[in-house]
Amino acid sequence: MSELRWNPLLGEWVATATHRQDRTFLPPADYCPLCPTKLGGFPTEVPESTYDIVVFENRFPSLQPDPPFPAVAGTELYPVRPAQGVCEVVLYSPNHTSTLAREPVTQIYKLIQVWTDRFRELSAHEFVKYVFIFENKGEAIGVTLHHPHGQIYAYPFIPPRIETELKESFAHKEKTGRCLLCDILEEEKRDGRRIVAANDSFAAYIPFFARWPYEVHISSQRHLQALTDFNRKEQQDLAALMKTLLVAYDKLFDISFPYMMVIHQRPSDGTDYDYYHFHIEFYPPLRTKTKLKYLAGSETGAGMFINDTLAEEKAAELRSHVVQINWPEGEKR
Ligand SMILES: [Zn+2]
Ligand SMILES: [Zn+2]
Ligand SMILES: [Zn+2]
Repeated sequence: MSELRWNPLLGEWVATATHRQDRTFLPPADYCPLCPTKLGGFPTEVPESTYDIVVFENRFPSLQPDPPFPAVAGTELYPVRPAQGVCEVVLYSPNHTSTLAREPVTQIYKLIQVWTDRFRELSAHEFVKYVFIFENKGEAIGVTLHHPHGQIYAYPFIPPRIETELKESFAHKEKTGRCLLCDILEEEKRDGRRIVAANDSFAAYIPFFARWPYEVHISSQRHLQALTDFNRKEQQDLAALMKTLLVAYDKLFDISFPYMMVIHQRPSDGTDYDYYHFHIEFYPPLRTKTKLKYLAGSETGAGMFINDTLAEEKAAELRSHVVQINWPEGEKR
């Protein structure tokens, strides 16, 4: 059913997960498997009449805690291993038509607490080396269920993208004695043209080197490595800044803006990564209201992205839609 196959050409694992072909594809709203179960209605993934935020294991996982033995035998050139890991689904709200952008800051704060909790719990598994929290939003990037939700993959290895960031962060530290992400944040603040929004604890910017027109990174102002390192005020400030960005995204083309959102934090393999720095990256696939950016030959075949926009201009455009949202007054800090 599923296994990890080694790609010796790139030095990375590929997961096969053929059972995922059977998963539910854009069901009508009445048959959403992520809605609460209605009285007398068909049973959904959540057998409750309502909920706040729910986390459960994906029914069509690419990684499982007790995976089947690989269906093929590995060779010296082509090792295989069981697809061990955890795939979880995180429901943001019981409201089928909501999105993270439409949820109140207090609900996003609650979600951050849930993420923190899942990060801590999944990291504790011996076989888990990296906890990856992400959201795919919108049909433009292949979402099969509209209900507002994100996912968590707990990998049995450090994924290649993270390996690269760790390697570059380590090399920068060796060379300068400083943190790479702290330096990036400092440079973005000094320049200022690419900053989209900021508060006491986090800053959002389109990085100098953005691959996507509206790619935004949110970095913590403090040099910290993971969700579990933040205090309550920082969690609340992160919720407020995420809401600020997501609302501006929706205003940009007056549509519910599609994106991939990924959280980059330290691995969970027990090693010290004090040279790394927590950040969230958003990759929206749109270039204009109706045009998508495709990952074509250069991007896919050579790994070189061609961004036909300037980060400085796109940041100014996005910033013009920003209304700074803060932690609601009167809400407990
Ligand atoms: Zn639903
Ligand atoms: Zn740092
Ligand atoms: Zn990153």
